[in-house]
Amino acid sequence: MEFLRPTTWADALDARAGHPDALPIQGGTDVMVELNFDVRRPAALLDLGRVAGLTRWEESDGRLRVGAGVPYARLITELGDRLPGLAQASRTVGSPQIRNRGTVGGNLGAASPAGDAHPPLLAGGAEIEVESAARGVRMIPAAEFYTGVKRSALEPDELIRAFWTDPAPGPQYFSKIGTRNAMVIAVCSFALALDPGNARVGTGIGSAGPTPLRADEAEDYLAAELDWAGRGPLPDAVARRFGELVAGAARPIDDVRGTAAYRRHAVAVLARRTLTWAWNDYTGAAGRRAS
Ligand SMILES: Cc1cc2nc3c(=O)[nH]c(=O)nc-3n(C[C@H](O)[C@H](O)[C@H](O)COP(=O)(O)OP(=O)(O)OC[C@H]3O[C@@H](n4cnc5c(N)ncnc54)[C@H](O)[C@@H]3O)c2cc1C
Repeated sequence: MEFLRPTTWADALDARAGHPDALPIQGGTDVMVELNFDVRRPAALLDLGRVAGLTRWEESDGRLRVGAGVPYARLITELGDRLPGLAQASRTVGSPQIRNRGTVGGNLGAASPAGDAHPPLLAGGAEIEVESAARGVRMIPAAEFYTGVKRSALEPDELIRAFWTDPAPGPQYFSKIGTRNAMVIAVCSFALALDPGNARVGTGIGSAGPTPLRADEAEDYLAAELDWAGRGPLPDAVARRFGELVAGAARPIDDVRGTAAYRRHAVAVLARRTLTWAWNDYTGAAGRRAS
């Protein structure tokens, strides 16, 4: 097997263009499993681990640009305050070893509906920066990136360079159901992001459809119902209806990890729960109750 090791982004793009059968590898936590189990036998590997720019993040014009090769462990420690929803999701990924190697770029490359980075990227309105040597840069909204089970809008000659997202303008939460607390693939998951300044709500549903999904109707409903200006309490009926609308947006199937009916029920619970946490943060209700 050929092993391509570019050290610059330009060389990586040239290698991608010149070797369409080469499989990109970043942290390798998905790729190496597939090689070990003979799921894939690529003619070549395109190792992105030495392309320095991929492991950097920066703030530009008030937005965050996070390189595809920044591992989960660094997302948690370096960006946890600015991207709390993604940091929460990152904490649930695998084990410390996996979080040290695994990256959001790799999660996007794999495009598994169960990938934990996807719901917070959707909820936060992230964009994915991809590039090819021939056609240059494209910015793909996360909501348009996922096209099918383990399929994405990435073209065969493109590589993922970074994702862009705003630092959290309000409370963000992620919650995941699995058969145990750690080292577990999601039975289903949900991310919520509140943007009080613009009275907007973002959502992301994981592992309850062929792709990660947004719950558009639920977002619009909640944005109109919440008492943003008065920071009033969250009516039970609103939280319940929000959960129902999120469940309605899911498109789950029965599989070894859970039934479609269970997943629908569970995403509704996760939606209500994350909404309650987020609204309490925004209104200070949790603090008032404790004092
Ligand atoms: C024990 C174990 C536990 C795990 N637990 C979880 C979990 O809890 N949650 C979860 O979401 N995932 C989990 N995973 C899966 C994996 O760790 C994640 O998907 C991780 O984000 C992959 O990142 P990586 O950098 O290792 O990707 P890699 O394995 O290097 O690549 C993954 C895919 O992305 C492509 N790719 C990588 N970089 C690029 C790029 N820049 N441009 C284009 N394509 C690219 C590769 O070709 C490949 O198809 C687990 C894996 C293991 C082995």
